[in-house]
Amino acid sequence: MVSSLHHRLVRRGLAALACCSFTVSCVADDELPAQDEDDGAPGGAVADELADVSVPEPAVGDRGEQVARAYAYLKQYGYFPNPELERLPGWKPVVEREPEDPQVFDEALEEAVASFQEAHGLVVDGTLNAETQRLMSAPRCGFPDHYAQPRPLKGPAQYAPSGQKWGDHQVLYRFRNFSPDLSQDDIRGAVAEAFARWSAVTDLLFYEDSDADIEISFGAGNHGDNWPFDGQGSVLAHAWPPGSGIGGDIHFDEAETWALGGGTGVIDLRSVALHEIGHALGLDHSDDTEAVMYAFYQDPKPNLRHDDVLGIQSIYGERLTLSWSAWGPIPGKHCIQVAEYADPYAWDDNYFCSDKDIGAQWSMSGPIPGMRCTQIVEPADPDTWNDNYLCVPVNSKWFFNWRYDGPDRGNRCVQWHEFADPHTWDDNFLCSLYLPF
Ligand SMILES: [Zn+2]
Ligand SMILES: [Zn+2]
Repeated sequence: MVSSLHHRLVRRGLAALACCSFTVSCVADDELPAQDEDDGAPGGAVADELADVSVPEPAVGDRGEQVARAYAYLKQYGYFPNPELERLPGWKPVVEREPEDPQVFDEALEEAVASFQEAHGLVVDGTLNAETQRLMSAPRCGFPDHYAQPRPLKGPAQYAPSGQKWGDHQVLYRFRNFSPDLSQDDIRGAVAEAFARWSAVTDLLFYEDSDADIEISFGAGNHGDNWPFDGQGSVLAHAWPPGSGIGGDIHFDEAETWALGGGTGVIDLRSVALHEIGHALGLDHSDDTEAVMYAFYQDPKPNLRHDDVLGIQSIYGERLTLSWSAWGPIPGKHCIQVAEYADPYAWDDNYFCSDKDIGAQWSMSGPIPGMRCTQIVEPADPDTWNDNYLCVPVNSKWFFNWRYDGPDRGNRCVQWHEFADPHTWDDNFLCSLYLPF
């Protein structure tokens, strides 16, 4: 991928760097890297046409501070061996070997640049072209790109799981502190909304609790995890993959100005929280520029995109939405009649429904052989409600749990009620649990 075009652009010394392009040790370059003399190579005519390009575009063979900054940037985000990132479980660098001289654009840096371009939807040419430099100076998440190497095979979707996940479908979070930029209620609301969006599409439930898996905090500079923030701009936040201790924790850079919604000089907390929660649940950065899990912050993006939904469901499965009707089946849902012949008038139009066909069957005469059944009982009505069962195929990924004393907080539950029988049926719930196998 050596580009004579870019060599020529650099050699011609088109302009001094107009702006500081990188986020690491960013200092102005006032001279261009020295170049070997290079006679007219193919592509020279194109270079002439692009003579107004104002930013040098280093490629293999070039050297200088600009190259060193690109190397440092790529090392920071996981493209080269990095002791800081080795603390993240399952992390591996994209390129295993480091450049011999960080000032020299060698094949290792070319491979890393190409991987960076591929990860972020850029034209892949392995050079520090203007578009690549522009992206490298944009605000982004501090989580490394291409977290797990090699990346898992996948179809057209661009999401990537990091390989870490929570073992329970109930995940607890808490706040260690808050930003003075917003009220505590606004911060709580924005984060709760972000959790709810992930919960809406997969079988995960989130609760704020003092004994939490995910701790959320705002901090500036070195904030206690040896993964320091860098002041305003560049890195906005980062999160740790699922795990014990610091695993799953989410840190926002207090040097940013946090807001609800976009605007000049402010960062939308809802969008960044949604993104960082994705990491805290086990997602890597997505190559899809439209996805919430895309590494760079652009405009506010407070809603999950299709790629994000596929990604989280690949780790935790789909969500099953349960419904109950006391007035016949619900149009558009998969319903089974839940009758009790000893109680025909009250129980003749009650239906249990789900948004997916789960192959459920109802029995009033004990468990159905060959199916996995959950007994539905009401202790206040022992004579009629002692042999009723809800059954699903034995290989169903859904498991049901019956409660006659209120919902189980750790599961998704639907109340079964019969208005003709309010006193005994007001605290009966069927709860579902996804079995990830
Ligand atoms: Zn990220
Ligand atoms: Zn941190």
